[in-house]
Amino acid sequence: MRNIGSINRVFWLLIGCSFALALATSAAAVWITSKPFLVETQRQAVLSQAQRVAARVDAILDPSESLTGFLSSEPTLVSYIVGYVMSDDGFVDRIENTTLPDDISEFLIFDFSGTPLSFHVVGQHSQSLDTMQAARSLSLEVLTTNEMMTRVVQSHVGKIPDEQTILIAAPILHRGFAEGVLVTVVDVPLNNTPKADGMVTLGKRIVQSPDVAHLNTGDDNAILVPIGSTGLSLLFTSESNLFKAIGQEMVTKAILAVSAALLLPFGVFGWLGKQTILRPHAEVQRSRNKLREQQKELSELAAIARKAEEAILITDLDTHIVWHNPAFERISGYTASQIKGQTPSTLLQGANTDPKARAKIRAALISHTPVTVELINYRNVTEEYWVRLSISTLFDDLGKPYGYMAISSDISDRKRDEANLLATTSAMEWQALHDELTGLPNRRCFNVTFEEHCRAEEQTSALAIIRIDLDHFKNVNDTMGHEAGDLVLCEVARILRDVTAGKNVPVRIGGDEFIVLLVDDGSLQVAQDLAETILHKVSQPIEYEGKIIRVGASFGIASSECMLVERRELVRAADAALYLAKERGRNQVVAYGTDEHRKVIGVRDTAEQIRCGIERGEFEPFYQPQVDAQSREIVGVEVLARWVHPDRGVLLPSSFLRVADQLSMLGTLDKMIMEKALQDVSTLEERGVHLPKISFNVTASRLSDPDLLVAIDKREFRKTAVSFEILESVFLDDQPEFLDFTLDLLREKGLSIEIDDFGSGHASMISLMRVRPDVLKIDQRLVMGAPDSRVCQNMVRSIIGIAESLEIKVTAEGVETRQHADMMQRMGCTILQGFHFSEALPFDDLHSFLTTHQGGLRNTG
Ligand code: C2E
Ligand code: CA
Ligand code: CA
Repeated sequence: MRNIGSINRVFWLLIGCSFALALATSAAAVWITSKPFLVETQRQAVLSQAQRVAARVDAILDPSESLTGFLSSEPTLVSYIVGYVMSDDGFVDRIENTTLPDDISEFLIFDFSGTPLSFHVVGQHSQSLDTMQAARSLSLEVLTTNEMMTRVVQSHVGKIPDEQTILIAAPILHRGFAEGVLVTVVDVPLNNTPKADGMVTLGKRIVQSPDVAHLNTGDDNAILVPIGSTGLSLLFTSESNLFKAIGQEMVTKAILAVSAALLLPFGVFGWLGKQTILRPHAEVQRSRNKLREQQKELSELAAIARKAEEAILITDLDTHIVWHNPAFERISGYTASQIKGQTPSTLLQGANTDPKARAKIRAALISHTPVTVELINYRNVTEEYWVRLSISTLFDDLGKPYGYMAISSDISDRKRDEANLLATTSAMEWQALHDELTGLPNRRCFNVTFEEHCRAEEQTSALAIIRIDLDHFKNVNDTMGHEAGDLVLCEVARILRDVTAGKNVPVRIGGDEFIVLLVDDGSLQVAQDLAETILHKVSQPIEYEGKIIRVGASFGIASSECMLVERRELVRAADAALYLAKERGRNQVVAYGTDEHRKVIGVRDTAEQIRCGIERGEFEPFYQPQVDAQSREIVGVEVLARWVHPDRGVLLPSSFLRVADQLSMLGTLDKMIMEKALQDVSTLEERGVHLPKISFNVTASRLSDPDLLVAIDKREFRKTAVSFEILESVFLDDQPEFLDFTLDLLREKGLSIEIDDFGSGHASMISLMRVRPDVLKIDQRLVMGAPDSRVCQNMVRSIIGIAESLEIKVTAEGVETRQHADMMQRMGCTILQGFHFSEALPFDDLHSFLTTHQGGLRNTG
């Protein structure tokens, strides 16, 4: 098959060739038709020219003939020829007196025997031999004929002469007899000079008329014209090149004209040919190529479809299967004959095929939009398998739908894996959100659920939180073992599950703490009733290994119905209520009401004021003196924090310490107090008062604060001893490593350690030995109770015993009366502290106390 390019080339070649052919044939036609006319025209032209020349020659010869005739009868000549006179002088004179034509060159005279007698030269040149001979033979002829004759001297036969010599001979008559002959020689100019371009158009020659036949001019076109009555003719021979030249010129012009004339029709023909032949042809070629490509593509696609792993179906618009690939047979389990003409839905779908997926497919088929679904198919009616199915509509070239194509793959394995993964994931998720022991939702689950309900846009029903804390649950664990504890927790969980219904959520948030989130109806009354029910049920005895376990519970309730706090604050509000329930003696339900809210707000206000107080430096160290039990000398002071409030006066630690601790501001506060106290001691020194010892109350966390030691190290005094009072309760728990380390460090720096409120807690001897304190401070409740309580006395005694065995000092706190002082002194306390001697004093008062005290100030050495 030729390509478009070569067809184009051939087309334009044909157009070119036909143009050339048309041109050539037109030129030939012009040539053939015009040639005879040309020849004729030329002949006519030559003829008329020849006649003109002949007339001119005649015009030359005619006077010469007349003159020759006249002169031949001249008497002087006759006299001379007859012999009357001996000389021709008379004749010569006659000639000289006659006006001769220019062309006459000579006169020759012959006697009756043809012998030349004389001649007369007119021009300069003498006659040639040829002329002489011709003149003699002519004179002989004239002598015989007595006629006047004219002869041409053919001295240049075959050549084209420029000039020809004509002889006119007339008989010299005397009494009717020819006595001699007069020959006149005439030179006739023929102007046969060749043209400058070397092309001679015509050759003119004068010939003797009867001689013409003998002249071989070699030219058929030669023209002979008689010259007057001279008996001579003028021969015109044509130059054949002329015809050629004329012909060529004509043909060239004809070709030019014809080609100009043909250009337009051929141009139009070419353009039309291009439009009507080439272009449609190109279109056809293009569509043929496209068709071939499509066929190739189709056959490739068919091959791919046949080899595909996926099942491929083609159906008509009524979903009857018209084509399927081998994979479809393999996956569906049907044979080709079973498949043909069936619809996929009857063939493949069954009871467990998701109706939603079916509906989705139907909708897509109707709207001719592509769809992908995952659904259950049936292999041989019985065996279920999962497929991922994509269906798209097939459209013809005009965009009209004519069928559907469905591609599906067996995804049963993936579905199985997904199901397994889902099971595992949901198990893990469940674990992450539930308490392992009781199976109740855990804190994380609660947080998520609670947050959802807080965020919910529609908050029509009230939301309530019931905080539950088991009372003395630790005792159960401690006395009856963890299994019993677990049993109690599971029992409480069961109760909570029993009493909560609907969307309400029971939660174990940790240890012995539970929450019930009331979602359905969280009004305060409902929450309170539910809490009372739970309290009642929880209080019921539980049997464990033949023993009875009894636990109580404290409840804090907060409901959004009260509109006291934001929903998100409900948990904190319930916490505050729970705190109050515990404070009020446990085993009861407290709802977060207006009073409780006021308290919380009060605490919040306090917190704010503390923050401002710290900023303004309103916290001051007060000093409570300590005296030697024996000598009653002042042996030191304990630093006690006071808040010198601008409005409320001097406030005790009970009104701010707990809140400051909750706000984590205790460290800052302690630091501030310590810095001021150290400054005060320096001031005392400057005033010459040397304090033996100063004690600071510190929390365990403050002990580990590196700033503490830095501040102490920077102190300007060295004579006053520094001591830290740590609550006994610090040692109750497992002692953190860092505490040992810090205490060692303090001791290295020469600081002493006192255990505060000793006797209130349960510090073991072992832990005491590890701490190796310098002083034990007996809890003031024991001191104050001692006069009236034997138990207190015994306790004090035993504490003193411990101190003695550890070889350390004992301070009695809360010495309010002389009785207390004496008693403690007697019992063996080393140092006494209490209102009996002095309450905590501001710095200025301390100064005067130190200087005025009766017992004096112990020497710092
Ligand atoms: P504490 O360390 O046991 O201090 C002794 C408390 O008993 C002081 O109460 C003191 O004023 C009071 N007191 C002293 N003698 C008597 C007495 O004869 N009778 C009675 N009824 N009370 C007496 P205060 O100053 O209210 O301090 C209470 C607690 O606050 C202190 O108990 C101490 O644990 C803590 N505290 C005081 N100041 C600071 C401080 O700057 N930092 C730290 N972390 N805690 C401090
Ligand atoms: Ca203390
Ligand atoms: Ca104390």
